[in-house]
Amino acid sequence: MAKRDYYEVLGVSRDASTEEIKKAYRKLARKYHPDVNRDDKDAEKKFKEVKEAYDVLSDPQRRAQYDQFGHAAETGGFGTGGFGGFGQGDFSGFGGFEDIFDSFFGGFGGATQTRRSAGPQRGNDLRYDLEITLEQAALGLETTINVPRAESCDSCGGSGAKPGTKPETCSHCHGTGQQQVARNTAFGRFVSVQTCQACGGTGSVIKERCPDCHGSGRVQRERKIEIKIPPGVETGSRLRVANEGEAGLRGGPPGDLYIVVHVRPHKLFVRQGNDIIIEVPISFTQATLGTELEVPTLTGKARVKIPAGTQTGTTFRLRGKGIPHLRGYGQGDQHVKVVVKIPKKISNKQKELLREFARLAGEDVAGEDKSFLHKMKDAFGGK
Ligand SMILES: [Zn+2]
Ligand SMILES: [Zn+2]
Repeated sequence: MAKRDYYEVLGVSRDASTEEIKKAYRKLARKYHPDVNRDDKDAEKKFKEVKEAYDVLSDPQRRAQYDQFGHAAETGGFGTGGFGGFGQGDFSGFGGFEDIFDSFFGGFGGATQTRRSAGPQRGNDLRYDLEITLEQAALGLETTINVPRAESCDSCGGSGAKPGTKPETCSHCHGTGQQQVARNTAFGRFVSVQTCQACGGTGSVIKERCPDCHGSGRVQRERKIEIKIPPGVETGSRLRVANEGEAGLRGGPPGDLYIVVHVRPHKLFVRQGNDIIIEVPISFTQATLGTELEVPTLTGKARVKIPAGTQTGTTFRLRGKGIPHLRGYGQGDQHVKVVVKIPKKISNKQKELLREFARLAGEDVAGEDKSFLHKMKDAFGGK
């Protein structure tokens, strides 16, 4: 008894939106709901079918799997959770990078077991975590990384058969890689298609194995790969290096390599989007009299004019001294935030001069700010 296509069950097109799927499901669920159709076995069956179709198609990840593998996607392995596939799993054949991330975190462990394909298989995608400095993120970077990966075996050309021999067509499944298994249950006889046990689904058997790859067709190698990181990346930026993943199987194309960027925190700068913020301490006299500061930037030094009477916390902008936009033109700014430091230790002579300073400002020598006290009194109605 073959299962009906889920899209057919819901009566929607293959590119239907989630909203359309939801709508179709609601309509059909109402129609076949057991509460409405008491003791109607047919309606009950339909209701279950509709529910099942909706459960799969309303979940983007399960829908993507279904689109790719059909009902085989549900027969095992898929969506069972866990991290089984991470690092060594088989993500081949999954289109976009988002899919691959989904499978990292969504659990995709048994994909290999349910794969039906007997033909060429795309190589695994690889992930490489690269740590860089903030300066490198701002300027871009060309570097060489060492990537351990499975590559096609040179001795056998990837076939896995001993040089001079060839893999032979599996006599058990006649090259299809599948076998039918019948199961009798109370509900009838079910025939399911499973991976051929004799050839593991490849459709061919190797009589004499290649001694270098032991029949796998691939060997593990560390490969130097030159990569170019564009200016403007940030932690979490992902770069795809096409075809630099693991070698494919049975003539399949290689996977891709993904570089995931991690930017180390900087000692002086804090990044905010494409802007850079730096805090610079200045003295009370510098703030009062004004000065010119030399501040570090991502590309060297710059001078900032601090006008007389600058308050602590004031920010000055160095236009274009931030990080370039990864997409598009232009770049962020650098913000210089000045923090006025109050001296902790001063000499008697300095104390004397400061008292004189306070007297000239009309302040109480002990340090009370009279104008502030006046304002306080005003605020409380002169009491
Ligand atoms: Zn080989
Ligand atoms: Zn077989």
